[in-house]
Amino acid sequence: MAGDDIRAALFLCALQNAVKHGGIPQSGAVIGMVMGAHPELRKQAKEVSGLAKDAIADVAALSPDERTAKLQALSPEMFAALHEKHEHKKVLPDLESAEHGVVMRFAPNPSGPLHIGHARAAALNDAYVKQYGGRYILRIEDTDPKRVDPDAYEMVKEDIRWLGLGITETVTQSDRLPLYYDLCQQLIGRGGAYVCTCENEHFKALKDAKKACPCRDQPEETALALWEKMLEGDFREGEASVRVKTDLLHPDPAMRDFPIFRILDAPKHPRVEAHIYPLMNFSVVADDHLLGVTHVIRGKDHIANTRRQRYIYDHFGWEVPVYRHYGRMGIEGVVLSTSQMRLGITEGKYTGWDDIRLGTLRALARRGILPDAVKNAMLAIGIGETDISFSWDNLYAENKKLVDPVANRYFFVPDPVPATIEDAPRRTAHAMLHPGDASKGDRGLSFEGSVILPGAEVVPGAAMVRLKDLFNVKIAWDGDAPSFSYGGDSLAEARAAKAHIIQWLPAQQTLSCTLLTMEGELKGVCEPAVAGERGKVVQFERIGFVRIDTVTRDGVLAYFTHT
Ligand code: GLU
Repeated sequence: MAGDDIRAALFLCALQNAVKHGGIPQSGAVIGMVMGAHPELRKQAKEVSGLAKDAIADVAALSPDERTAKLQALSPEMFAALHEKHEHKKVLPDLESAEHGVVMRFAPNPSGPLHIGHARAAALNDAYVKQYGGRYILRIEDTDPKRVDPDAYEMVKEDIRWLGLGITETVTQSDRLPLYYDLCQQLIGRGGAYVCTCENEHFKALKDAKKACPCRDQPEETALALWEKMLEGDFREGEASVRVKTDLLHPDPAMRDFPIFRILDAPKHPRVEAHIYPLMNFSVVADDHLLGVTHVIRGKDHIANTRRQRYIYDHFGWEVPVYRHYGRMGIEGVVLSTSQMRLGITEGKYTGWDDIRLGTLRALARRGILPDAVKNAMLAIGIGETDISFSWDNLYAENKKLVDPVANRYFFVPDPVPATIEDAPRRTAHAMLHPGDASKGDRGLSFEGSVILPGAEVVPGAAMVRLKDLFNVKIAWDGDAPSFSYGGDSLAEARAAKAHIIQWLPAQQTLSCTLLTMEGELKGVCEPAVAGERGKVVQFERIGFVRIDTVTRDGVLAYFTHT
């Protein structure tokens, strides 16, 4: 690494340390941080420690506010890292039996890409693994071929990479069918389960009457032989299932001898050749046990499953993980149902899984919501058991904390109206790329006589507007026809006249721009430099934050993020 780069790395680490702990950082701590982040520097240890003093002195010369502002500007990631840790500590209650580390899992079904509802389990489990140390397993639960979308395997992984979860290993349940078959055989062998060949209706009638079905008393050998026959394909769908013995007198009929394996003739599984599938309660228990899962954080909608799963744990004599069930989270304003989304995409109503009207993580990403904002919002919601409705405003507030310090500012003029301004001095406006960070520089907007103004500001009655960073403009009205003239430079006069301070563009310096919002689209023009911000979130002044999605010869397509 070159000397300048080492200096920059040292400065950043010293800065982060100072912001985190207050006061002047120790050189040992700063050097350690730099080496940790750039192991290749170990070879240049002498040079690094020689340069550390200067970096620390540079940081010491800044006021605490300046340090924070600089860190935010130079490395939003390092700034966010500080912020994130504090939030984790603040919001998440301790887990019992976690002192020595945890093994946790995120277990989505590959039926479509992840959506905002999945993010809660994903983020909470992730935060706890980070807090206590341990393993974080991604478990793809694909043992119901009716609910598998072959494309979702990859989409789920992409979404998880985007979220930035600390996944340490990934398992896919369809790879593990032999393990489940083996455990089923063991369970039958222990007298904990049986093969039921009753007609569904018949079983239900008996179960509702709290009575055992005739299969329940099968001798073990018979049960094992029937299980073999199931595996060999001697039964068709609906002709046999494996049931676990629970409590036939349980007040909730759904707890009584529920099925743990079933036969499916169709559809074919996209990954494996199989016709016997474990039901979720069995495969979840088998894997939570086999993978050593210590803590399970999942929604309240799984409470009945937790109850069912205990029967299976008890039969095997396995230790039960620690469970936490968080409350329901209503999410309004976006489409979340996978089947509705899929149908809409097929019918052409939505452009794809990232259509901004959908609640998928990829749609949020397209709108300019950052993964850390999603995680922080979910941690702020926490693991409380109370049912809540998801607040988009809170998510936007989290996102704003992250984008506001770094997003470049530009002018976007919707519904553009051309205006020639009489008697105005030619000059170049120097609008700052970021009002809080002069080091980013400015955008030169050169006024040569004509400008483009937002239509909403040029309405009969408006007598003066102030073009931001340029000058005041007087508007005279001849009926509906406006004419424009120079109104001086005085901000005080603009204020006295209650003039709006508005965005504008030089007539010769525009790029066509469409801004898509959840409510519809705004057409207009923006600064040509916006074309250089593809994929980034910027602020269109007086409009809000937007993500620059596409840049073509015809112009820019941006998505509205939030105000
Ligand atoms: N695959 C299950 C689901 O997405 C999760 C199972 C669990 O948390 O135990 O609902």
